[in-house]
Amino acid sequence: VLQALEIHHTFGNTEVLKGVSLQLNPGEVVALTGPSGSGKSTLLHLLAGLERPTLGKVMWGTAQVSTLKGTPLDRLRNQHIGLVFQQHYLLSDLTVLHNALVPSWIQAKHEQQEALELLARVGLSHRLQHYPSQLSGGERQRVALVRAVLNRPSVILADEPTGNLDQHNTQEVMHLLLELARERGSGVLLVTHDEPLASRADRILHLLDGVLVS
Ligand code: ATP
Ligand code: MG
Repeated sequence: VLQALEIHHTFGNTEVLKGVSLQLNPGEVVALTGPSGSGKSTLLHLLAGLERPTLGKVMWGTAQVSTLKGTPLDRLRNQHIGLVFQQHYLLSDLTVLHNALVPSWIQAKHEQQEALELLARVGLSHRLQHYPSQLSGGERQRVALVRAVLNRPSVILADEPTGNLDQHNTQEVMHLLLELARERGSGVLLVTHDEPLASRADRILHLLDGVLVS
């Protein structure tokens, strides 16, 4: 279970989040919508422990995220959180296979095997030794997806993961995201402007004027 408890977040003089609370349960798919600049990406960064809220708490299970830092924070994040962003953030010097394995601290044999199976599932078996610059946008997002689900995280935080893909690739990446998450028991928090996509979620949350409305 991932929880935000009365989160406030301020940039300079602007309070972007004004008391946001939410709970994401295992296996649940939740869509997050809201106008541009309303703070959706900010909220995802805070939930991922990439930034600390000005006020309030983020909990991953029983761990309070803001009490952690360094390696313990990174390790716990890898257990709890899978991340997929609009820009893929693959590492340009690593191959497809090694990018997929990035979150694994110990690259054990079974993880390699699992990464290979997942890459096959998303149709990338013939691209294992390619570098991100040699891939199409859809292929990069599929690598990011494999990386995000590999550790069976409690929740996958996806920030407009199909933002710069065409219709065909959008459908495919979303289908794979939801299918892999469900199979692996991960919840999904999906930021999207796409109404039909949002309507497929179990719940829709709307971020407006710094607070969440459902
Ligand atoms: P979009 O739908 O366009 O992606 P968003 O809902 O994700 O928008 P955020 O990126 O979270 O919005 O930004 C919320 C507000 O916080 C914006 O006004 C933005 O300018 C501001 N902001 C975000 N990050 C920073 C930062 N690092 N420093 C200062 N202001 C920031
Ligand atoms: Mg955003």
